[in-house]
Amino acid sequence: MGKTDKKELVIIGAGPGGYAAAFHASDLGIKVTLIDPKVNPGGVCLYRGCIPSKALLHLTKTKDEALKASEWGLEFEEPKTDRKKIVSWKEGVVKKLTDGLGKLSDSRGIEYIQGRAKFTGKNELEVSPEEEESFSLQFEKAIIATGSSVISLPNIEIDHKHIWDSTDALELKEIPEKMLVIGGGYIGLELGSVYASLGSKVSIAEMTSGLLPGTDRDLVEVFNKKEPFERVYVETKVEQAKVSKQGVMVSLQGKEGTQDKTFDRVLVAVGRAPNTESLGLDKLDISTTDKGFIDVNVRRQTKHKHICAIGDITGEPMLAHKASHEGRIAAEVIAGKPGAGYDPKAIPAIVFTNPELAWCGLTEQEAKEKNRDIKVVKFPWAASGRATAIGEDSGFTKLLIDSQTEVILGGAAAGKNAGSLIPELALAVEMGSTAKDLELTIHPHPTLSESIMESAELFFGSATHYK
Ligand code: FAD
Repeated sequence: MGKTDKKELVIIGAGPGGYAAAFHASDLGIKVTLIDPKVNPGGVCLYRGCIPSKALLHLTKTKDEALKASEWGLEFEEPKTDRKKIVSWKEGVVKKLTDGLGKLSDSRGIEYIQGRAKFTGKNELEVSPEEEESFSLQFEKAIIATGSSVISLPNIEIDHKHIWDSTDALELKEIPEKMLVIGGGYIGLELGSVYASLGSKVSIAEMTSGLLPGTDRDLVEVFNKKEPFERVYVETKVEQAKVSKQGVMVSLQGKEGTQDKTFDRVLVAVGRAPNTESLGLDKLDISTTDKGFIDVNVRRQTKHKHICAIGDITGEPMLAHKASHEGRIAAEVIAGKPGAGYDPKAIPAIVFTNPELAWCGLTEQEAKEKNRDIKVVKFPWAASGRATAIGEDSGFTKLLIDSQTEVILGGAAAGKNAGSLIPELALAVEMGSTAKDLELTIHPHPTLSESIMESAELFFGSATHYK
């Protein structure tokens, strides 16, 4: 198909949303054109998000674990950090996965155009490849999947040298002695944990009253007991950050007034904004929310039914698995499948720190806000054989259960590998399982997953290992 022909489906952006949509649409028999600036699909998640951060966290968790093992009688020498080797290993992981996505795209016969696109009309785009002339392209249907970008604070300019964004931090160009992370959300905590483990003295500045705003406090408490940071400033605003010869001078405005502190590097991790700029949305007259996200219906369609939008560009939670799920739905909608719609009961979230914090479905905070009549049951990992055997004593698993119907509405876990428990809880919530279902499902021993079964046992009175 030539570049001037009318394309059946054009997808702009090849992150987890865009490539999932492209692959599924192609499998459904649609001719797909996928446009992205990178040589292969992957988006933020693979190139500068989920995957490189989890590779680094795996490495630092391995180090922490090895150090902990001396308490159990296994002594290692003090680990040495070969920064260059770490970087090349991490880049290898990214390359392997993105090359793989490129092959999956090719094998499906998807037309992949490396470049940027913007709308010039309701069925027309202008595509600007990196090193070729721009050209215009007609399409029948389109999916917008352009994701999100880092934002900064009013008086703080990210210069990528002294003041970093998450992409700079993932490059691991150096391991600074003293570092400040602005923002106590999951990205700040994950990247801060990596640098702390590699030897930096990391402080966190968070504007609200605690880390991970919006997350149930009992989960955050488990992290607080083991957090690896030099200092955590809460209810603290960073007013400005100035680069000088001594480092980055930062004004921290907290309860006790303003204090100036100097750090070698500052990482700004205060959130992300949708990539709607330069997309030519004005040509479509498509509405956005007050935060700039594209408005879509349950079928992920914009006000023009032939144009869908998916992933970070449509709003919170900005997570890869939510983007991919929406991508598959948009592909089915475009393919004309009746009944396809986005209606999740449980979007799992995991903070991959050490310990991990994870949850899905209703949270206690939401239950309170919505005045839901629920019962919360919590199984402490101190009573779990597996948790004890892996040296974890402060974690827990909890279930949020409808008091009347006994249906599982949400669940959470905190502790080492807590994230591995969340898929079962998400399935339980999606399927409308009851506490009885979880109590009667035989869970393998010794695993952390038994804590789900024992939480359900608690709902009915007492658990085998905890009363
Ligand atoms: P993106 O992945 O942002 O992809 C959008 C693509 O569109 C990009 O390649 C972009 O270059 C391209 N694009 C933009 N404009 C145009 C244009 N005009 N023309 C063509 N292409 C364009 N999520 C998780 O679920 N788990 C995690 O552990 C996790 N960790 C993260 C860690 C970090 C440090 C960061 C920054 C994010 C993390 N996320 C994580 C979030 C996750 O990366 C995003 O939610 C996810 O990538 C969103 O997917 P998307 O398809 O909507 O967009």
